[in-house]
Amino acid sequence: MMSKGLRRTATLLAAACAATVGAYAQQMPAPVANQLADGVYYWSAMGYGSLVVVSGQDVLVTEPANDLRAPMLRDYVATLTDHPISHIVMTHEHYDHVGGTSLFPDATVYCHVNCQPIFDLADAPFDDVPEVDETFTDFMRIMVGDTAVELHYLGPGDGDATTVVYLPGEKIVLTSDMYEDQALTGAAWVDDKNYTGTRKILNTISEWDLEHALTAHSVSTDPQVLRDNAQYYNDLYEAVFQQLKQARDEGGPFAVFGVIDSLPGSIQLDQYSDWANYDTAIASHARRMMFSIFHAD
Ligand SMILES: [Zn+2]
Repeated sequence: MMSKGLRRTATLLAAACAATVGAYAQQMPAPVANQLADGVYYWSAMGYGSLVVVSGQDVLVTEPANDLRAPMLRDYVATLTDHPISHIVMTHEHYDHVGGTSLFPDATVYCHVNCQPIFDLADAPFDDVPEVDETFTDFMRIMVGDTAVELHYLGPGDGDATTVVYLPGEKIVLTSDMYEDQALTGAAWVDDKNYTGTRKILNTISEWDLEHALTAHSVSTDPQVLRDNAQYYNDLYEAVFQQLKQARDEGGPFAVFGVIDSLPGSIQLDQYSDWANYDTAIASHARRMMFSIFHAD
């Protein structure tokens, strides 16, 4: 269930994205495309990455994202195949990721079952919230020609509909907004994320057999970046948990409330101090992890 605060954050984020996406488009570097396997590509543009799977007459893409980016994605796919995009997979429900589908009226749109209650909250500024054709609860396999594309739900992470996309034949995994490359997520963005859930998901998929690991806001495809971020969440969890445990051991169950204000600023993880945003974001990450441990959200 989405909390009121989470809803408000989602609304503000979406409004911010709608207002700034045009400006972003002007500043963004040229799109980057990488072939990862036979018929499998990773295309990054405007700060968002899309997995593209082409096999036979089928074409699957992950999140066109918005109305400016969707035509660029369509044009990129046209360089790979004469066939139109037939499947669109959403990695989670956040409004800045789910737009642009109206350009592909014949494509089947997939989103985790938790998407729709959140899309139902959308109002006028978010008129590109998609019509979802297919939902899944725990697992779904989509055949794209001969290529199997799996959708896994491992619990909430970035949003309540966090979807892990996995190609078992090609050993490629994609998550969105779950981690970055040698960077902490900026402090302004941490509130809308389940940190204990993110920790669980990153640790789970780190164990999978992987040639490539993709995350939507980075062009990196290196599984080691995923493993480094799983370790970061483990180290952050341990540091925060130990302080909460110590307070509880010394003062009883209500003593943890006494450290709410002081704990975030006291967490130091020096091994990550060279990651971007460390100085400005580590206290926010610690605070978010603290509440995620309190509330499991
Ligand atoms: Zn997100």
